[in-house]
Amino acid sequence: MNTKRVALVTGSTSGIGLSIASKFAAMGYDVAINSFEAEQDAGAALEALAASGANVRYFQSDLAEIGGGYDLVSAVVASFGQLDVLVNNAGIQKVAPIEEFPPSDWQRIVAVSLDSAFHTIRAALPGMAERGWGRIINIASAHGLRASPFKSAYVATKHAVVGLTKTVALETAEKGITVNAICPGYVWTPLVAAQVADQARVHGMSEEQVMREIILAPQPTRQFVQPEEIAEMAGYLCGDLARSITGSTISIDGGWTAK
Ligand code: NAD
Repeated sequence: MNTKRVALVTGSTSGIGLSIASKFAAMGYDVAINSFEAEQDAGAALEALAASGANVRYFQSDLAEIGGGYDLVSAVVASFGQLDVLVNNAGIQKVAPIEEFPPSDWQRIVAVSLDSAFHTIRAALPGMAERGWGRIINIASAHGLRASPFKSAYVATKHAVVGLTKTVALETAEKGITVNAICPGYVWTPLVAAQVADQARVHGMSEEQVMREIILAPQPTRQFVQPEEIAEMAGYLCGDLARSITGSTISIDGGWTAK
């Protein structure tokens, strides 16, 4: 058995996932990072994490594939010997009115953001229960608690991720395992940068107007959350003093869901 704790962060070659992986590396965990890309395309992320001196390994797995999440966890356990912290972070977005929403995009969003979490959790729980300790953190969204137009697949899957979180928390409450959802508002990452361009097309506006009048309109602080703020919370949830936080949705959204 590995003497160190092992953390897997799905979709961790950029944005929030990379920041969470960096946090666990700095905390002394062995860290498994993941994306659908070949290992050579994840070089920048691996290089960024190498500076911590932590044992970081890359696992290529396309979470849009049925069973991709289960196989990913199996590969991490085979490589490191165990899995103690699972962060379901991979997620994608598509902005379009529902009548024009391509069914293939609907299916891909549901597969990457929701189905993969079901499969990774299913694979990770038995080992966590055996050792009597585990942490599962699902990166949901303010869109797991509130809706916005033109994001039917994203809003539906994020609400579902919140439901999955609460259910698994109840099933594991007496096993030393906690299961929580972090619900960020807008965080400045490549996913949001792409949305700015998409929204500009849908609304026929400039990108600057979209940022000011649409993207940050629901976020009372009118400032983007930084990825490190999400990573800090993920680290906190793994501490012993967070053992009673389970089944929770933790908003980091500049006041969005206060409304
Ligand atoms: P990002 O686009 O910067 O990173 C997404 C990561 O997921 C990348 O590493 C990408 O390679 C990986 N990924 C995408 N498809 C995959 C697949 N099929 N298989 C494996 N990996 C895949 O995105 P981000 O903004 O850092 O978002 C991360 C998570 O946070 C997502 O679940 C997103 O919904 C959620 N979130 C983001 C924001 C925001 O404002 N950025 C707000 C709320 C919630």
